[in-house]
Amino acid sequence: MVAKKIERDVFLFALENAFLHKGKASEGAVLGKTLSSNQSLKKDLPTLRKLISKAVKDANKLSIGEMEVILKEEKPELFEKKEKVERELPELPGAVKGKVVTRLAPEPNGYLHIGHAVSFFFNHYYAQKYSGKLILRFEDTNPEKERTEYYEAIKEDLAWLGIKYDKVKRNSDDIDLFYKHAEALINSGDAYVCVCPVEKSRKLRYDGKNCPCRRISPEKSDKLFTEMKTTLKPGSASLRLKLDMKSKNTTFRDPTIMRIVEAEHPLQGNKYRVWPLYDFANAIEDAKCGVTHVLRSNEFQQRNKLQNKIRELLGMDNPHIISYSRINLEGTPTSKREIQKLIDNGKVSGWDDPRLATLKAIKRRGIVPETLERLAKEVRMTSGSTTISIDALNTINRKILSPKTKHYFFVPSPEKIEVKSKGTFYIPKADAKSMKKGEIFRLKDLFNVKLTTKGKAEFDSDEVKADTKKLQWVDTDAVDTELLISETGKTIKGLAQKEVSKLKLGEIVQFERVGFARVESSDKPIKFIFTHE
Ligand SMILES: [Zn+2]
Repeated sequence: MVAKKIERDVFLFALENAFLHKGKASEGAVLGKTLSSNQSLKKDLPTLRKLISKAVKDANKLSIGEMEVILKEEKPELFEKKEKVERELPELPGAVKGKVVTRLAPEPNGYLHIGHAVSFFFNHYYAQKYSGKLILRFEDTNPEKERTEYYEAIKEDLAWLGIKYDKVKRNSDDIDLFYKHAEALINSGDAYVCVCPVEKSRKLRYDGKNCPCRRISPEKSDKLFTEMKTTLKPGSASLRLKLDMKSKNTTFRDPTIMRIVEAEHPLQGNKYRVWPLYDFANAIEDAKCGVTHVLRSNEFQQRNKLQNKIRELLGMDNPHIISYSRINLEGTPTSKREIQKLIDNGKVSGWDDPRLATLKAIKRRGIVPETLERLAKEVRMTSGSTTISIDALNTINRKILSPKTKHYFFVPSPEKIEVKSKGTFYIPKADAKSMKKGEIFRLKDLFNVKLTTKGKAEFDSDEVKADTKKLQWVDTDAVDTELLISETGKTIKGLAQKEVSKLKLGEIVQFERVGFARVESSDKPIKFIFTHE
């Protein structure tokens, strides 16, 4: 059986070589290719040379058209379009080699998804391109939302993506610093404590009318700010910037920069009860960390102006801000609320359900990090809306996996067939059912057999013909295998060749005629999750 497989491989190498060279294969080239695929064949070169000589003759006899038919069946990857030259991302404005600092700024309030990964790859790419630095900074100043588990989960996902950072920071470590800057803004008259009820201040903001608290003196505001940290109740007072209540950019209508929150923070506990809002914390931290280039999705566009304004008031430098459109995966929710709802309703099994677009989920399904990196380069940093179809994602993933995954036979719903004096085999039930007595079919890469009666066959020939039906098969040492198709929630039970029992957890393989799959569990039966065709 092993010899048959080698003979077949050699023939296919010869065929490929002939097809690429106007119908004439060269023995030397085929020998090189064969040996590089299987070093152990060196042990018996004379036999191998004979084998190659015959294969080259056989191959050269075929017309180009016949070659194409066979190769399309056996080596479809040869016919996939040559990959486009990988696109490079554009230069960054004002970038100086060795001086660029970019950052990853996730909030530890949920799991990362594809959109985060693409954004992270942009930042990672530029830090490397300019030999600069990349900072991982947790935007964790919302004690009601952050959870300890997410800090770790984010680091795990980054490790999986292969993104290395130079430094880790947490905004929640800098609360005293935010207080210092808040007090400076109060003293310069650029910020005031507003004590209006929430409803009232919301309405004034909506109507573009000044709030009476704007007239509170810096001294009084300073005293109120101290009280916010000690006695005032949540919602009864907040610190606001004095900007422009008539601004068309509504983020400029005296935005709140600090508020009272009594929830326990996962890292800071109950140490603080006044917390900065996102724009205030983010603006200060980007300046403090020396970030030179902020690459972020354009839902932040209005806020960019506000953040620049905050830095101007504090005498800080502004980074270059580059906006691009946020990336979504078609048909999958990325908002935390939507996903949580699906989990609560039992529609998906959890944050790593393979139908979701979280990194944990797509990893389980067999999407590899290189795919996301290439996706980032493909979509570049466009400003239009970017929705990626699952098909597009799968196409990139397939191209990356194809050359490096091992092929195995998987027989769904196996049906036994005895081949006279050759042994017992299993073939897919669907194929067994459709076959008629006397029909000739090929056990792929092995030989042709003729069906004599139900469940029984006899050897027919070795000859490969383009129109012979080729079936996946396994023999009696095959292992029980289950393949979960996550889109339908169905599990296909079958047998796979025994080599799959040596696979490691998380390994991705190709089941011929079925597609790619990732090892989910190596207990018996071995479980796989289907990736794509
Ligand atoms: Zn007010």
